[in-house]
Amino acid sequence: MTVGVRVPLRLADAHGRVATDLRVSLTDRCNLRCGYCMPAEGLPWLPTDEVLSDAEVLRVLGVAVRQLGVTKIRFTGGEPLLRRSLESIIAGAKQLRTHAGDTPELSLTTNGIGLDKRVSGLVAAGLGRVNVSLDSLDRERYAALARRDRLPAVLSGLAAAEAAGALPVKVNAVIMRDHNERDVVPLAQFCLERGYQLRYIEHMPLGPQHVWDRATLVAQAEILALLGERFELTPAAEPRGAAPAELWQIAPDGTQPGGLIGVIPSVTAPFCAACDRTRITADGQLRTCLFSRTETDLRGPLRAGASDLELAELWAGAHGRKAVAHGIGEPGFVPPDRTMSAIGG
Ligand code: SAM
Ligand code: SF4
Repeated sequence: MTVGVRVPLRLADAHGRVATDLRVSLTDRCNLRCGYCMPAEGLPWLPTDEVLSDAEVLRVLGVAVRQLGVTKIRFTGGEPLLRRSLESIIAGAKQLRTHAGDTPELSLTTNGIGLDKRVSGLVAAGLGRVNVSLDSLDRERYAALARRDRLPAVLSGLAAAEAAGALPVKVNAVIMRDHNERDVVPLAQFCLERGYQLRYIEHMPLGPQHVWDRATLVAQAEILALLGERFELTPAAEPRGAAPAELWQIAPDGTQPGGLIGVIPSVTAPFCAACDRTRITADGQLRTCLFSRTETDLRGPLRAGASDLELAELWAGAHGRKAVAHGIGEPGFVPPDRTMSAIGG
């Protein structure tokens, strides 16, 4: 008689992709109201009892890493710094071991407000690095985009992240027509001078209705043209792989040291074919794609007593049905009902 050896589950889909990178949203709440993400009046927040508790988050992370081969965890939201227990969640995640026996890579996507006071504690708990969202260095334009006058707090957060060794510090900037195209070059200059890795993100149809319009999208080609007026750019040698950003090398000159810069062209050159992501919302819903219109409930089975293996099988089954691509721009494309803040960016 042969003794059955259980083959470890993976988040494999029918299109040859395997997800190993988990985005977990810790809250749908936020202290900014970025126009591309949230309406000015905010959104109805999830009731507290619908949000996964710390223990439930750690249970889900354990299933992802131990059972399903996830190797990277990014904490996001809403604004993940609004989760008071973020340090202890990170410390718990740090105890996990991947199939290869390593600690999973732990990172945070944040608007940076309050990061100055917390980043050293977060790094001590096990956080590896941060991505800070910063769309303008001009205080008035920042306040107009985020609908809150908080630029100084974000800049303090960035400096503190660097000082705490959460390296490399990454900066995300969404560029919107008639709002912040003139920030493209200053943001690059700012990041190059400090050694931060800047990624421009194409505006995606994931915010309040009627905000996104293909005609007003500032596409990768236009962002590169704006950069090209000021810098000497060459495509970076590194292959894009599963990384969403396309990278360019900026040559040093008398005013800046040069470095890599990226664009995440999710609309004009999507990276769906190489996607290695899986997502959990703050209320424990599994999404195989940012643009999914369906979710798989993990919270219900988890609270009803499902075992780790049962949760893993549910998760893996959903990934088996992952769509081949998001289809923005194709006839019939319908954006998801939740905004980016509620999904977890
Ligand atoms: N609050 C945190 C922050 O702003 O970094 C984390 C959550 S936020 C939803 C994650 C990322 O999504 C941010 O970099 C934000 O700029 C980006 N984002 C939100 N809505 C977007 C949209 N409609 N198109 C492109 N990026 C978007
Ligand atoms: Fe908040 Fe981030 Fe959305 Fe801005 S992008 S409203 S900071 S969740």
